[in-house]
Amino acid sequence: MTALITGVPEDARNADGSWRCHIDGVWRDTQDARRLEVVNPANGAVVATVAAAGPADVEDAVRAACRAFESGAWRTKTPQSRASALLRLAQRIRNHAEDLALAESLSNGMPFGDARAMVKRCATSLEYASGMAQRAYGQSIPVASRYLDFTVREPIGVCALVVPWNGPLLSAVWKLGPAIVLGNSVVLKPSELTPLTALMLAHLCADAGIPPGVVNVLAGGPDVGAELVGHPDIHKIAFTGSTATGKAIMKTAAEHVKSVTLELGGKAPNIFFDDLDMTEAVAGAVSGLMRNTGQTCIAGARILVQQSRYEEFVQRALEAIGRLRVGDGLDVTTQLGPIVSPAQLDKVQDFVASARKDGAEVHGGQLLEQDSYAGGNFMAPGIITGATSTMRVSQDEIFGPLGVVIPFENEEEAVALANDTPYGLAAGIWTRDIKRALRVTRGIRAGTVWINTYGWNFVEAPMGGFKESGLGRENGDAVIDAYTETKNVVVELQDHDSLDIYRVGRRS
Ligand code: NAD
Repeated sequence: MTALITGVPEDARNADGSWRCHIDGVWRDTQDARRLEVVNPANGAVVATVAAAGPADVEDAVRAACRAFESGAWRTKTPQSRASALLRLAQRIRNHAEDLALAESLSNGMPFGDARAMVKRCATSLEYASGMAQRAYGQSIPVASRYLDFTVREPIGVCALVVPWNGPLLSAVWKLGPAIVLGNSVVLKPSELTPLTALMLAHLCADAGIPPGVVNVLAGGPDVGAELVGHPDIHKIAFTGSTATGKAIMKTAAEHVKSVTLELGGKAPNIFFDDLDMTEAVAGAVSGLMRNTGQTCIAGARILVQQSRYEEFVQRALEAIGRLRVGDGLDVTTQLGPIVSPAQLDKVQDFVASARKDGAEVHGGQLLEQDSYAGGNFMAPGIITGATSTMRVSQDEIFGPLGVVIPFENEEEAVALANDTPYGLAAGIWTRDIKRALRVTRGIRAGTVWINTYGWNFVEAPMGGFKESGLGRENGDAVIDAYTETKNVVVELQDHDSLDIYRVGRRS
């Protein structure tokens, strides 16, 4: 399988064929030569082995990033020059879109077409981020006339970028682009399940002329992530992953008062009012929930439907999910790929059992074990009816092709149900009544609200969570705040220093 992924340089591999890590512009084995396996979730085959980092490699990567930062070789380049490098990187991503999409699809199971679209979004994101170097404005602040007060933006230093497996390259690029174009150096740690595209990205960064040490990539699991974010020379942590890990990272960050951006879990409500167009609504609900086999933080996993249309909605939604084609991501007819790992499949199946135990009804959601699914982590998509808002399936993030459908009576109840989880990442509202849509939008505590659509994240627009869904924003120019410090500069414009309160400098 590995042979299928091209575009990786010869020196990126060890003698045993495993992928190396990338530190200080050099491909090298990890110090204790541990290995981790990347497994294709569609059939259980080993796609690649990768050198797993340990504490010594984390130390080396952080040291390299510090040297690159302190030398000024990158951060003192003109904004235009850093922007050009990002544009070259975007072009290289476009040139290698097929290789990157293949590596993504083989490692996390997503349909190849979706992976290709995601890779293209990476390029678009870098193109947008490139201009941030030139848009990182300071301010001139009106103060007393004998002073000039202005602010400048400066890079923070060395940033730890820790990302999950569900959209591995896109999560990485959303952080890496703004971080480096604004002059920082980074150590990127992808998920242990999906490290390949991050390593390929390291190669493309070097090829785009980004100097050694600015981008370092280490494969490894939670231990490596924890070691990295706890390193005292990391000044910024940008993390995407589960809320539980986000909380642990925040505690670690508190030790050295590090800046954090956290993109965490969700349990997004997708609300359907009685004036809905049933065909559009069902398509919006099913794709909002099932995209990437339900393994997205923004999955519309709490489908709220106004009582008068509930029965019809459930019937139509069941017909629609029954038609979804589940299979290997490399099969062009596949709409839903496998679940990323056996452990994640078990977790989702545990929610199926929990729903039944709590008295709800699960439609679909069974394991798929026929020959065509042999070795893979496959389950049928499912929806749950008869669940209350407080049940575990309605409250916890499932991260699989399984959602609850809950009826509501009126607008007030819809808003209350929508807000009735610890999360606040996203929400959808479907109605032709614009006043109602905007009233409900105002009532919902979530970082993104879609009206009569679902799931679009534009690179120009901020993305992030309220409540336990996170801190800070990615995308849009809001991200400039995440990767810069603001320095305030005060200049005395008069000859007599206003600080000389004891008239020390005055001749008597
Ligand atoms: P995870 O939290 O288990 O792991 C995410 C990353 O953190 C991995 O690289 C992992 O190795 C690393 N990690 C784990 N423990 C760590 C620790 N103590 N210190 C430092 N690093 C550590 O999450 P996951 O299972 O890989 O991903 C799924 C989760 O990601 C879901 O909860 C999902 O909602 C969330 N997610 C959020 C967004 C968003 O934008 N809000 C986007 C995608 C995924």
